[in-house]
Amino acid sequence: MLKSFTRLLFTLGSLALSMTAQANVQIFACEPEWATLAKELAGDRANTFAATHAGQDPHHIQARPSLIAKLRSSDLAICTGAGLETGWMPMLQRRARNPKVMPGEPGYLEAAGQVERLEIPAALDRAEGDVHGDGNPHVQLDPRRVLEIAKALSSRLQTIDPANKAHYLQRVEAFSRRWLAAIQRWEAQAHALKGKRVIVHHREWTYLLDWLGMQRVGSLEPKPGIPPTLSHLADLKELQADRIIVSPLNDDKPSTWLHEQTGTDVVVLPQTVGAVKGTEDLFGLFDEIIRRLTTGDGA
Ligand SMILES: [Zn+2]
Repeated sequence: MLKSFTRLLFTLGSLALSMTAQANVQIFACEPEWATLAKELAGDRANTFAATHAGQDPHHIQARPSLIAKLRSSDLAICTGAGLETGWMPMLQRRARNPKVMPGEPGYLEAAGQVERLEIPAALDRAEGDVHGDGNPHVQLDPRRVLEIAKALSSRLQTIDPANKAHYLQRVEAFSRRWLAAIQRWEAQAHALKGKRVIVHHREWTYLLDWLGMQRVGSLEPKPGIPPTLSHLADLKELQADRIIVSPLNDDKPSTWLHEQTGTDVVVLPQTVGAVKGTEDLFGLFDEIIRRLTTGDGA
């Protein structure tokens, strides 16, 4: 009797302990890569919700009521920014009426705002397609930039949840160590890719190519966000590229056509975590990108 009573007390005690230690912060992540990063940095101190999955195009998301409800109960929202979510996130923020996650608050973080951006247009002209005035938003595909974003996200967590500051500091330090070692490994594996000429479907690989020293010689889309046309594809035939890079979300007809015309191999690369098998976290994402680029697998 006494024994079971003690056990009961112990169980209640550890239950109370785990309730205080866990899930203080509710995180809303616009894209799966930031949800994964938030889990990495917060551990059991946060519940993380991913607003979109790898099978969705984050340029075009419906501001559904379920997303509004999730944002309403969040303490921290992390999005790509630089215009990527212009079509849906401002509307979610207006409707959720949650002052914690409005622009300018510590509870709203734009990843692209934390790093140097490429392809900032000299002048903004809608005729140039789906061009973002703040530069190319697809910053998740350069691991060096991901590390800067991780540090910014961790510091926001420390601001919002100061009671767990030591926990967040320890986690971001551990992540940085593992991540820097992984970057070294990836760079060594990808050495032979330097200078390779690629044609991309959408310009979402800009930061990846910049990191690896590869060169974009053309895009299947005549302008960002504008579907490929036959006359534009015909112009690409003379480019002598080493590879055509597409994501699993892209229509495969244009790349297949160009491959048939030129013999240039097509490589399907995961654009975020969960896009293909083996990319359940950020380490797996870059492992798989480098593996596919170096072996030509994933056609
Ligand atoms: Zn884009």
